[in-house]
Amino acid sequence: KADRAKELRGQPGQLKDGTRIPLLANVGKPADAKAAHEYGAEGVGLFRTEFLFIGNSEPPSVEEQTKAYADLLREFPGQKVVIRMLDAGADKPLPFLTPEDEPNPALGLRGLRTLEAHREVLENQLKALAAADAQTDADLWVMAPMVADRYEAEWFVNLGKSYGLKFVGAMAEVPSIALMADQVAQVADFVSIGTNDLTQYTMAADRTLGSVSNYQTAWHPAVLRAIKMICEAGNNAGMPVGVCGEAAADPDLAVVLVGMGVNSLSMTPVALDDVRAELAEHTLEEAKELAARALNGEFYKPEYWN
Ligand code: PEP
Ligand code: MG
Repeated sequence: KADRAKELRGQPGQLKDGTRIPLLANVGKPADAKAAHEYGAEGVGLFRTEFLFIGNSEPPSVEEQTKAYADLLREFPGQKVVIRMLDAGADKPLPFLTPEDEPNPALGLRGLRTLEAHREVLENQLKALAAADAQTDADLWVMAPMVADRYEAEWFVNLGKSYGLKFVGAMAEVPSIALMADQVAQVADFVSIGTNDLTQYTMAADRTLGSVSNYQTAWHPAVLRAIKMICEAGNNAGMPVGVCGEAAADPDLAVVLVGMGVNSLSMTPVALDDVRAELAEHTLEEAKELAARALNGEFYKPEYWN
């Protein structure tokens, strides 16, 4: 099986019947781009920009950011690269942006909320992204983290476009956006599902707490149903839906996600081989059947208490 996975490495992600499912890489620091190439990623599905901000006492300048984004984009000429706006707060606190006195940081100022409260940080990042885009020829997609609903999605998309960005979308990580997915699909160019946070918020279990870690699984049918709502809305409106949370790196779950209508998967580069190999074993019909069973809870075993 491992040999087969390696054999497929140079090939694009696809199901047994030829249905294309682009397999992209999550990149958290510039060095990860090398691993993305090594494991045959077809682009970047999630570039986490926090590394530029963490460990500093103030935000990086527009010039510094432009260089970092352009360096990344140059690594993937002609390929899709999804860059995520700064996701500060909760599990990724930044001293100069995140309040210290929040009793529930995961429910506080984070993601797009932090950016909205610090407009200069937000607009400088958009400026840098637009400048990097103009210097390079990757296919740049830009998304905001922690978008709650279609109002925030529309607000961010309009702002991104005012800076000249062509493809602007929202991460789906909060149940409210799943419940509003049909309307979100009218305003966003794409949605990328962050299953780590979507699971945390659907199950109301802090993703950083060991005591409730058994709730942190996207195999839970409630999480899958939220994902399904987003897929249906996206598929109906012709809006691309990707997954960039840990769920995409689980080969069996990846098949289920595709069966629900997910169009692309992004994961840590080392996971690409096994996911590519598993997708190649199933037709779309089979994937849909597995998805229906998963949505029904057939593959989920509750293990909250031992
Ligand atoms: C997610 O929440 O699933 C995600 C991809 O973002 P992060 O893990 O960086 O919060
Ligand atoms: Mg997240």
